[in-house]
Amino acid sequence: MSAGIYSARARVETLLIEKMLPGGNLLFTERIDNYPGFPEGLSGIELAGHMEKHYRRFGGETIRDEVEGIDFSRGEKKIKLKGGKKVESRAVIIASGSSRRKLGVAGEKEFLGKGVSYCAVCDGAFFRDKKVAVVGGGDSALEEALYLTRFASSCYLIHRRDSFRASGWLQEEVSGNASIKTVMSAVVEGIEGGDRVERIKVADREKGGSYYIDIDGVFISVGQTPNVDFLKGGLKQNKAGYIITDYRMATSRKGVYACGDVARQALYQVVTACGEGATAAFSAYKYLAGSNL
Ligand code: NAP
Repeated sequence: MSAGIYSARARVETLLIEKMLPGGNLLFTERIDNYPGFPEGLSGIELAGHMEKHYRRFGGETIRDEVEGIDFSRGEKKIKLKGGKKVESRAVIIASGSSRRKLGVAGEKEFLGKGVSYCAVCDGAFFRDKKVAVVGGGDSALEEALYLTRFASSCYLIHRRDSFRASGWLQEEVSGNASIKTVMSAVVEGIEGGDRVERIKVADREKGGSYYIDIDGVFISVGQTPNVDFLKGGLKQNKAGYIITDYRMATSRKGVYACGDVARQALYQVVTACGEGATAAFSAYKYLAGSNL
């Protein structure tokens, strides 16, 4: 949406293609605490709503559809949509974000929606007065654990190492929350139960051996993977799949830019995604104007 705001404001004919609702992962974020200009923080849904309104104010258009593939072979990029439409555009900005990585253990697929979840904001309320676990040690895992204590009677935060990767601020909040029990150097090996999740099997990396923790739900928060399937290898990506760009957010194809969580970067935050979106739109504008930028 930042790219859209900058592009539409530069009076470039701009089309935003969105498969769900504008906002992406913002919509699953309960609170954004570090976006400049909002000292009290605000919800992800609120921030996404402001951005969309801002984009529309400059006359930007949006269509709700999913991109199936993009033909980059000639100057005019041909974007094929799942709904059957085709869109042609001289410049394209890829801002398709990332999705939650799977843990890859037994029971994960089987119990999806039956106690296994990847989104505390979406499913947390189903676990009122129940015992839950969050797997992971990054910002997302700690945020999810904190959010879940609003509903759950207790929350195990299970991390594979002996120290968290998450920011110091979140670590302080977690250690001050009596409902969160941290389980360190612990690797979840399997998710078990009957009709629904009942327990997880955990390997103790310090003492060796494994044990069970009885829980009603497990929230998996072990990182992200970029949403790049529709590119079908058409752009240069790194090993993990993130699109490689230069400082102008230009990809390996002329007139194609990438920004936000789908692009390789040093920091994955709303504020950095917005900055990159602005840069990508500026670069696309220069490209369309025939500048050699
Ligand atoms: P992340 O920072 O990559 O952390 C993933 C966590 O999952 C790590 O602690 C990792 O362990 C663990 N992990 C990975 N694979 C695992 C496996 N197979 N089994 C067990 N544990 C595993 O991912 P994230 O928390 O989703 O965050 C993604 C990005 O968004 C980050 O850059 C983060 O800073 C940002 N973010 C920021 C905020 C905020 O500022 N409020 C909120 C959410 C996300 P190791 O530590 O051992 O590698």
